[in-house]
Amino acid sequence: MKPKINTLLPILATLLLWAATGQSAVRTITSKGNTYVPLNNIVSYYGMQFSQPSKDRLRLRNKWHTMEFETNSRRCWVNGTLLWLNNPVQKIGWQWTLKEPDFSKTVEPAIRPYAFLKQAGNRIVVLDPGHGGSDKGATSPRKIYEKLLTKNIANRVRNLLQARGLTVYLTRETDKKVSLSERCKIASRYRADVFVSLHADSGTSSAEGAGTFVLSLPGEYSTHSYGQDSAPTTRYPGNKYDVANQALGTRIQQHLIKSTQQTDRGVKRARFQVLREAPCPATLVEMAFLTNPKEERFVLSQNGQDKLARGIADGIVAYFNDVKRAKQ
Ligand SMILES: [Zn+2]
Repeated sequence: MKPKINTLLPILATLLLWAATGQSAVRTITSKGNTYVPLNNIVSYYGMQFSQPSKDRLRLRNKWHTMEFETNSRRCWVNGTLLWLNNPVQKIGWQWTLKEPDFSKTVEPAIRPYAFLKQAGNRIVVLDPGHGGSDKGATSPRKIYEKLLTKNIANRVRNLLQARGLTVYLTRETDKKVSLSERCKIASRYRADVFVSLHADSGTSSAEGAGTFVLSLPGEYSTHSYGQDSAPTTRYPGNKYDVANQALGTRIQQHLIKSTQQTDRGVKRARFQVLREAPCPATLVEMAFLTNPKEERFVLSQNGQDKLARGIADGIVAYFNDVKRAKQ
């Protein structure tokens, strides 16, 4: 008898996971042709305790890690850092589940990045100060341009990383316009191990906080276009680094919020050109809202600039330490 496709899929998914992690895999289930990971199986896989601290919160915890999921929502917190899932945590039958890529490409790289980074490099950083020249980027109420802030913070991050013995290049040293694909080519010429693009956001005067973007997964929505039309299936060069992208983005967001105490807007996904064309693991950091008077004051102060730069530098160093651990 020919085996049915829906009995083969979970077996295949299990084998793939096993191959990817080198450990016994977390068990999956299928529903309507999709593969899901029940939270109960993550609990047993990681040796965690399960609890439900409130009606819409599910908590998984062991000695080292805490994961918290909001029910029927795409928000989850790994060790306190907000990560946006591609799909809501949903109940299938009696179990709460994650869609498979949300486990293997979002949660796992955040929980144990060192398990996936054996091939990654940990020496050369290319920082990309967003905008420049006639492209001013966002403008603050006091007419401070995003292009100046991104360069200022890039200089500070470079100083901090060089003091730790790392090699750092910038995609622009002066106030000039550099095309998005040229920024990625520069990263490639310098043989970047990571590419970190720096930006500041604009929105309403009350919008606030910092967020870090990594490239969307093929066939999955970007965070801000969830549910619109159908999710693009194109695989971009940057998708070679899906797991490392998430590991890097999570470390930067974690340390940025720790350093600045800003509102945590989380690790999100988008198909920005610099992320699509990046020749290495890459993220784009939206450091603050220039259009918010409170955040404008923060990013213009020495103290604010120090904290932003320190958070980003610490995140890059933490990721490089994960790579070092992966190679041991
Ligand atoms: Zn920008």
